[in-house]
Amino acid sequence: MDFSFTEEQKMIRKMAKDFAQKELVPVAARLDETSDYSILTNNLKKMAGLGLMGMNIPEEYGGSQVGSIAYSLAMTEIGKACASTAVTMSVTNMVNEVILEFGTEEQKRTYIPRLCSGEYVAGCFGLTESSAGSDPLGMKATAVRDGDGYVINGSKIFITSAEYGNIVIVWTVTNKEVKRDKGLSAFIVERGTPGYAVGKSEHKMGQKGSATNEISFTDCRVSAKNLLGKENDAYRIAMMELAGGRIGIGSLAVGIGLAAMEFATAYAKERVQFGEPIANFEAIQWMIADSFTELDAAQLLILRAAYLKEKGMPFRKEASMGKLYATEAACRACDKAVQILGGYGYVSEYPVERFYRDVRVTRLYEGTSEIQRLVIAKTILNEVGK
Ligand SMILES: Cc1cc2nc3c(=O)[nH]c(=O)nc-3n(C[C@H](O)[C@H](O)[C@H](O)COP(=O)(O)OP(=O)(O)OC[C@H]3O[C@@H](n4cnc5c(N)ncnc54)[C@H](O)[C@@H]3O)c2cc1C
Repeated sequence: MDFSFTEEQKMIRKMAKDFAQKELVPVAARLDETSDYSILTNNLKKMAGLGLMGMNIPEEYGGSQVGSIAYSLAMTEIGKACASTAVTMSVTNMVNEVILEFGTEEQKRTYIPRLCSGEYVAGCFGLTESSAGSDPLGMKATAVRDGDGYVINGSKIFITSAEYGNIVIVWTVTNKEVKRDKGLSAFIVERGTPGYAVGKSEHKMGQKGSATNEISFTDCRVSAKNLLGKENDAYRIAMMELAGGRIGIGSLAVGIGLAAMEFATAYAKERVQFGEPIANFEAIQWMIADSFTELDAAQLLILRAAYLKEKGMPFRKEASMGKLYATEAACRACDKAVQILGGYGYVSEYPVERFYRDVRVTRLYEGTSEIQRLVIAKTILNEVGK
């Protein structure tokens, strides 16, 4: 077993870190306060230039193809600096990967190079509906075959980047007569397609620099060429891609947790109470020790999932374990960071208040912690005793 990174992985991590500290840290608080998405799209274009938007995409489609481990390391560095930017990077990489895996050659050549180059600043993943969150099989949006195309009707909620994202992959019911997992199809829909509308951005607790919108389809006609993968096979596509997405979100959460604890640790060394730095108090040291230990364990779990994915081995359970543990550990770390800063942890003068808000959603999106536990338990129950 080898815990060392390759020279390329170290280089990618350093590049992402240098970029994040120089370009993202100075604008992250303003992006959070103002939700001025032009700041975000500016970040994304620069990141595309560095190859960060298609990290598992072959060069022939404009990607940097550095592998899942390097992707995870880069995501943690971007997440440390600006969670809103990091989640957009995560979803866009996922959209690129789903098109790479299931798209036709024409779809790959049409969309992937644009998403990788920044010509298209973001891609969107349109699965969730108001009555179908953890259970996407309850979705109601439909696509009906009509001549040489399909007509889509229905709506989706909580769609990251819909406001400025150039394409959305939308999941729909195409066969109501069969079990739902055999009756869903996915389509690539471009923003601006008649009948496709983007609603207002949600007011969120955190990650306020990333838009989260409702989207709707009203007799939205798309060509059969926009079908992604085989008709009625899209539930499998969603489940496969979400596993990869969980590596991204777990890595992002580790980044937020580390940023919070690194800030809090430096603060503890400076902050004097009872005549000495609070870092001298054992209670504070234990919070530091526990948090960094948990974040380290979280990163190892995530990197194991990334390693398996990179090797083409099964990684679904491991990705869920990584996401579950990383997001919960990162939330605990951010909570402790607030505690270490005392009242200063609660005001926006210091970034820990933002980290605390930003980290919370990582336990919800791309599958809640409860859903990760279901995935893990289901796999183990199948494995044990065989
Ligand atoms: C900021 C943000 C961005 C998002 N971005 C996207 C996006 O880009 N694309 C997209 O498609 N979706 C997106 N989502 C949606 C997100 O994936 C869902 O919110 C999430 O899957 C949970 O669904 P829900 O909110 O409907 O909660 P519910 O499914 O209603 O769950 C409510 C509670 O019940 C629990 N629960 C549900 N079922 C079970 C069960 N079987 N066993 C135990 N507990 C259970 C859940 O864990 C949760 O605690 C986003 C959400 C947010 C908040």
